[in-house]
Amino acid sequence: MQDLRINQQRLWDTLMEMGDIGGTEKGGCNRLAGTDLDKQSRDLFVSWCKACGCEIEVDKIGNIFARRAGINNDLPAVGTGSHLDTQPTGGKFDGVFGVLSGVEVLRTLHENNIQTPTAMEFSVWTNEEGSRFQPAMQGSGTYVGRFDLETELNKTDVDGIRLGDELERIGYLGDMELGSRHMGAFFEAHIEQGPILEDEEKAIGIVRLGQGIRWYNVEVVGRPSHSGTTPMHLRKDAMFAASAIVTEMNAIALRHENGLGTVGFMQVWPNSRNTIPGNVKFSADLRNPRPDVLLTMHEELTAFCEKIAKEHDLEVNLDPFWYFAPVEFNASDDVKAATEKLGYSHMDIYAGAGHDACYMADLVPTGMIFTPCLKGISHNEAEYSSPEECAAGANVLLHTMLEASKRIAEQHK
Ligand SMILES: [Zn+2]
Repeated sequence: MQDLRINQQRLWDTLMEMGDIGGTEKGGCNRLAGTDLDKQSRDLFVSWCKACGCEIEVDKIGNIFARRAGINNDLPAVGTGSHLDTQPTGGKFDGVFGVLSGVEVLRTLHENNIQTPTAMEFSVWTNEEGSRFQPAMQGSGTYVGRFDLETELNKTDVDGIRLGDELERIGYLGDMELGSRHMGAFFEAHIEQGPILEDEEKAIGIVRLGQGIRWYNVEVVGRPSHSGTTPMHLRKDAMFAASAIVTEMNAIALRHENGLGTVGFMQVWPNSRNTIPGNVKFSADLRNPRPDVLLTMHEELTAFCEKIAKEHDLEVNLDPFWYFAPVEFNASDDVKAATEKLGYSHMDIYAGAGHDACYMADLVPTGMIFTPCLKGISHNEAEYSSPEECAAGANVLLHTMLEASKRIAEQHK
C-alpha cells in the first residue's frame, strides 16, 4: 500500500477530456452551473464512477455522491470532492482538479483491487462558483444546513431562470436528504489559485484555515436626468456615488493586513451616454482570515455608504446577504502525514477563496490539499497546473484518504 501511486497520465487525460466540455478558444472553460454543459460534465463523472462499481446518489440540491464500498460499510466513509462548474472565463483546474483527483483515487483503488477499511465517497457539489446563481458554495452550504433548501432552489439567474428548474431539466434534482451521507472525514484537493506555493517552490500546501468572506449587494438610487442640461450641483449621480464606494472598497482592503476588497459586477441604469445614471447595482466582496478584522472592514464599508448617501443626497442600500466565517481545518494533520510519507515539499497555508470543504468542516473533520498553479492565475482561461503538480496532489489525496479510513476503522474497534 505504501508504494501505491496514482496514474499521472490518466489523471491528465481525464482533466483534458473534462476541460473540452465548455472549452474556450484560449484554453479555458466556460461551464456555468445548471447548464447543458454542467449536465454533460456531471454525466461524464457519473459514468466514470459507475465504471469503477460505485453506487450513485443525488441529493435535493443536486450534489452527486458516488460510493465505493469498503470492508465495513457500517463505519463512516471517507469523502472527497469539489465542483465541476466554472466561471464564465474560468480554467480547466479550479474545482475540476479536486473532483478528478477523486476519480483518479477511485480508479487506482479499483484497478489494484484494494479493499479499504471504510467506504470511500466521491462527490460533486452544485454551483460552487456563485457565478450564475448566488451565493457561492451553494450546494455544499445547503447540504450542511447553512442555507434553506427552498430558498436556494428558488434562486434565479439574470434571466429569471430558477436553479431548481435547471437542476430538474438537466436531470440532477435528486431526492436524497441533505446532510444524510454517513461520512467520518472529508478532503478536498484544489489548485492554490494564488502565487505562494510557486514562489516558495513547494509541491503541496497544507491548508490550515479558510479565510472569512462578506458579500454584499449594493444599490445606489439617484435620479436620471439630462447630461447636457443638468448643472453639476443639481445632480444625483448614482454612478459618481458608486465609484466612490468602489474606491473606498480598495482603501478599506489596503488599510488592514491581509485585507481584500473587490467589486466585480455592476449594472448601470439606464446605461445611456446622454443620461446621468439614476441607478447603479453592484457586488461587493470583502475578505480577511481574521474574523475581528473582517468585522471592522464591514463596519467601515457600512459607515462609508451612509456618509456617501448623505453627501450626495441619494439612497445607498447595502445588503450584507452572505457572511462566511473563517474556518479551521481539523483534519489537516492527516494531509501533512501523507505528504511527508510521500516525500513532497510542503508548507502550511490558508485558503483565500471559499471552498466546499469549508462548509463540510461544519459536519466532519476536514482537510484541504493545495497544489501550485502557474503564476497564481485562476478564474482565468490561462489557469494552468502541470501534470506533475496535479499528480502530486492526487497522490497526497490517495494516501490521506487511505490513512483516514484506517484511522476511522481503528477508532471504531
Ligand atoms: Zn474552486
